[in-house]
Amino acid sequence: MVEGSAVLDEGERNRYSRQLILDGFGEEAQLKLKGAKVAVVGVGGLGSPAVTYLTLAGVGQILIIDPDPVEGTNLNRQWLHWEKDEAHPKVCSAREKLRQMNGHVKVEVQQEALDHKNVDWLLKGADIVLDCLDNWQGRMEINDQCVRTRTPLVHGAVDGMRGQVTTIVPGRTPCLRCLLERVPKKEGAMPILGAVAGMGGSVQAAEAIKVLTGLGDPLLSRMFLFDLGEMEFELIELDRKSGCPTCGSIQ
Ligand SMILES: [Zn+2]
Repeated sequence: MVEGSAVLDEGERNRYSRQLILDGFGEEAQLKLKGAKVAVVGVGGLGSPAVTYLTLAGVGQILIIDPDPVEGTNLNRQWLHWEKDEAHPKVCSAREKLRQMNGHVKVEVQQEALDHKNVDWLLKGADIVLDCLDNWQGRMEINDQCVRTRTPLVHGAVDGMRGQVTTIVPGRTPCLRCLLERVPKKEGAMPILGAVAGMGGSVQAAEAIKVLTGLGDPLLSRMFLFDLGEMEFELIELDRKSGCPTCGSIQ
């Protein structure tokens, strides 16, 4: 959880009034969101809903990281990007929309592919990181950095009609390397329906808000699995792996 910041003005009290009356939320939680910095890595199918709900909820500072331009094949799901945005950087397209949604939120962007050389400065200062990527190489870079800096990480992934979300608190829950020894190879275009990515990203935003404010019960050491084809939903328990090369030695 982060330190609260400043106060809410009348406009903010009105804008957030329906979440302020949530059980276990209130002005204290809203101020924690306002004082928080969240890094969202990837502003595609998962990132569009995730960063939108974080912006609408009033997270004070949001950093979006994505190297890619908008392509026509993105438009079935990545709804922060519109036809007019094709060939423009996704981070700029996203920032343009998010600024119009909530002027109280500071949106920063980095048009960078995250790698082991830049991950340290890109994620510096983030209170929580959202993995909204579509590749395991990048996910593992984020995972390892978050474990090094003890920064909470919300992992999300979708494929076809299915998806998964878990929240990692380094030293307390399993990290991604506890769950997956080898990075799966990416093969060809991944099938995906927009609504499936929308659900995954929405769950990720809710998780980030819960961790930042203390609301509810986050997905710690639990993975939420959903299949919108069969309409099957499952919560599975996850264990830390002793000897995990990334988090095995931290408590
Ligand atoms: Zn681990």
